[in-house]
Amino acid sequence: MFGRAAPKKSDSTRYYEILGVPKDAAQDDLKKAYRKAAIKNHPDKGGDPEKFKELAQAYEVLSDPEKREIYDTYGEDALKEGMGGGGGMHDPFDIFQSFFGGGGGGFPGGGSSRGRRQRRGEDVVHPLKVTLEELYNGTSKKLSLSRNVLCSKCNGKGSKSGASMKCSSCQGAGYKMQIRQLGPGMIQQMQQPCSECRATGETISDKDRCGQCKGDKVVTEKKVLEVVVEKGMQHSQKITFPGEADEAPDTVTGDIIFVLQQKEHPKFKRKGDDLFYEHTLTLTEALCGFQYVLTHLDGRQLLIKSNPGEVVKPDSFKAINDEGMPMYQRPFMKGKLYIHFTVDFPDSLNPDQCKALETILPPKPVSQYTDMELDECEETMAYDIDIEEEMRRRQQQQAQEAYDEDEDMPGGGGQRVQCAQQ
Ligand SMILES: [Zn+2]
Ligand SMILES: [Zn+2]
Repeated sequence: MFGRAAPKKSDSTRYYEILGVPKDAAQDDLKKAYRKAAIKNHPDKGGDPEKFKELAQAYEVLSDPEKREIYDTYGEDALKEGMGGGGGMHDPFDIFQSFFGGGGGGFPGGGSSRGRRQRRGEDVVHPLKVTLEELYNGTSKKLSLSRNVLCSKCNGKGSKSGASMKCSSCQGAGYKMQIRQLGPGMIQQMQQPCSECRATGETISDKDRCGQCKGDKVVTEKKVLEVVVEKGMQHSQKITFPGEADEAPDTVTGDIIFVLQQKEHPKFKRKGDDLFYEHTLTLTEALCGFQYVLTHLDGRQLLIKSNPGEVVKPDSFKAINDEGMPMYQRPFMKGKLYIHFTVDFPDSLNPDQCKALETILPPKPVSQYTDMELDECEETMAYDIDIEEEMRRRQQQQAQEAYDEDEDMPGGGGQRVQCAQQ
């Protein structure tokens, strides 16, 4: 922000143009102009919402002598920056409502059912752990949660009489404006929530406080929600309970949202509607046939066996139709079950075993080289490695080399910091 040129003067005419008034317009003229334009452009009357928003924005600034002065002197950007990128701007409907009498609920002749536009409460998100069995079979879970509800005794007013007083500290706005000079031609305007009234804009006298909620307007309530996990639901799928989050006065209650978190299964992996199952065979089973019993996610026992005379190769797959996951909301349709075979080879064989095997297995290839040619060859020493580990180490090494090269370049030090931040 520092060192930035002050906004040009020409930036401070747009709001006047939007309202169609001269720069020296009196407050009354502004008001009339806004009133006429806002009714004409109200989205409930088929007006353009963008235009309506602009009008409200222009009026909000020009109707406030303090903001109008900032705008006239420094232009629109000065206000926007002070407000944290426009985040502090009011809702156009709130401005419209406050202009036409707040809670009165209608704009002239409109018969609007909108009433006072309420803000929306926050959604509450809970992760919900489920097993793959539960996603396969479906389940329901009862969960006890505590939430704020409007106090029934005072109907969320917080006071016995139903009355509240405007907070004297912030004049009922709920926030206070602070203007700071940052440098020549630069000011920052900030909204600070009022601490006196906890940003509500009102206070309740001690005597008038509701006995049940102590003036808090809400009380805590325990509630049991039944979360139905349907067959075939996915990891990270959301289950929403609309309007079950914390209640607050003048607020549309947010939702409680459960996000499914599937626990790892020791045997099955899920990919979409398909299931993958790992099975290890001994070498004898792979060569001479196998059968085994696979316990499915619903407890059924499936018999898996090889065909007569079949040899199962390491890292091969078999698929079974309709034994994958049930499809969400079409649970009678199911994906495939893939079985991935690993073959457990013996680590070593003694010479007798080798001889025995050689009598059964296909013969070794006949050497194309003479003994003399073999004598000419160089002896090598090949050792066992973990290929994945080996590749990881190679990548690290290359990254380190690239990094070192970068450092050798002129001015490389500074660039490196930038790269690290990206
Ligand atoms: Zn206050
Ligand atoms: Zn109460």
